[in-house]
Amino acid sequence: MQSTMMHMPLMINQILERANQIFGNREIVSRRPDKSLHRTTYGALYRRSRQLAAALVEAGIRPGDRVATLMWNHAFHLEAYFGIPAAGAVLHTLNLRLAPDDIAYIINDAQDRILLVDDILVPLMEKFKPMVKLERIIVVPTSGARVPEGYDNYEQFIERDASAYRYPEFDENAACGMCYTSGTTGRPKGVVYSHRSTVLHALGVALPDCLDLSVTDAVLAVTPMFHANSWGVPYAAAMVGANQVYPAQHMGAADLLDLMESEQVTLAMGVPTIWLTIQQALEAESMRWKLKKGIRMMVGGSAAPPAMIAAFEKHDLSIKHGWGMTELSPVGTLSWLKPEHATLPAEEQYGIRALQGIPLPLVELRIMGDDGPMSWDGKSVGELQARGPWVTGGYYNSPTDPDKFTPDGWLRTGDVASINPAGYMRISDRTKDLIKSGGEWISSVDIENAIMGHPAVAEAAVIAVKHPKWDERPLAAVVLKPGSEASIEELRKHLEAHFAKWQIPDDWAFIDAIPRTSTGKFLKTRLRDDFKSWVSR
Ligand code: ADP
Repeated sequence: MQSTMMHMPLMINQILERANQIFGNREIVSRRPDKSLHRTTYGALYRRSRQLAAALVEAGIRPGDRVATLMWNHAFHLEAYFGIPAAGAVLHTLNLRLAPDDIAYIINDAQDRILLVDDILVPLMEKFKPMVKLERIIVVPTSGARVPEGYDNYEQFIERDASAYRYPEFDENAACGMCYTSGTTGRPKGVVYSHRSTVLHALGVALPDCLDLSVTDAVLAVTPMFHANSWGVPYAAAMVGANQVYPAQHMGAADLLDLMESEQVTLAMGVPTIWLTIQQALEAESMRWKLKKGIRMMVGGSAAPPAMIAAFEKHDLSIKHGWGMTELSPVGTLSWLKPEHATLPAEEQYGIRALQGIPLPLVELRIMGDDGPMSWDGKSVGELQARGPWVTGGYYNSPTDPDKFTPDGWLRTGDVASINPAGYMRISDRTKDLIKSGGEWISSVDIENAIMGHPAVAEAAVIAVKHPKWDERPLAAVVLKPGSEASIEELRKHLEAHFAKWQIPDDWAFIDAIPRTSTGKFLKTRLRDDFKSWVSR
């Protein structure tokens, strides 16, 4: 029997319409290149996004065409987030931290037709321009400087009355955006989002047991808008009318804390490395900033050490730890406490909150072992696989890869994990980062987290190095906090409480900084290269 319900497609345009009708005066605040603040509203965003859509259609963009952005996080980028899909086109956010030839590869792979670029990023764009075939390059004058000769000026491009603009009609499964995986393994691959998957993901992340988003929030998106759609927050925040706050390229701890204070931020999101610098700034000058009480800080992209959760609690900042990947739009899980955890001692609560967490509604997870799916007993460790309406079922332009998808239709995440009976998932490692010592696996993430719990340690990353007898042994690369000291013996002793003797690294290196990926994660491939001739004894 058919239902009597209407079949209404889920469209990003519905989020834009609602933001204008109901939340027209809520604000979007962005830093300009000179650090001054640019303020606008959802009402203005609505008008300008539709102007952009109308201009793109007039420029010959048709449903399904790719329009790329090379932009920092700010209100103009948000216009592209809504304006490009409103033209029926596909928003392709380019990662501006990649090497120019990688960006060129991605543009050519996606067959982008038009590029929107921040004026201050024109020098970067000119490095890859000879390697790509773009029909038009439109420069967004964020700094107020003159647009260089030979390029379109964004403000002139969109100038028009678009009040009568009508959205083209297309299916909810049509593409609205695409994002390339960072390519830490092999060439980057394109993930293509649909209007439907994006709307469902926005609803999912807005839920109380995820970001708990509402109109009373002011959301600081530190996660780049070119990194998995800034975790879907631009769409989710617009859906509920939350104020949005964007730092552009100013991502130093003091600049972020200034914004959190002046804009009364209630929710901020970023990778752990960003929060580590904020933690250090607050420890050095805790009285400098008057922040709202109980700010939620969403941390994902790599593991949030329990010590970090505890450290922020002291400043009345509450870390919400989640797991995701570009392939999942990107949010898959979030760790929150159930009512039965309310009376547990603080340390145990931090332990639960440091898990990667509970799958969002509609996201299904399983742990796959050699003999099939494993039980959710918190001990069985295997490959984490996922499926759901905002999980990709393939990559753009590439045949279905059996290394990435199972025959029964699950995404192979490349993460090694367990799930406990209460439904909390815990990542032990990425498959390629596990260390095999004497035939036994050692989780690099667990050891890193424990080392980062030592008060003298700012950052730590653990990698495998060769060993003549054990095949591989863990090497801990450690960055000490400025002015702090710790000996190898002391750090080893610190680990003894948590690990068996054979798991504790014998090899240690004190370094100045851990190399980072373009999205701020520890770049272990580089670290492995740096230590490739190191032989453990
Ligand atoms: P890339 O694979 O290029 O790093 P993504 O940003 O999509 O690009 O990264 C997804 C991966 O990041 C996950 O598969 C996982 O290994 C890691 N990750 C994300 N969130 C967490 C987390 N909270 N804890 C541990 N690892 C995480």
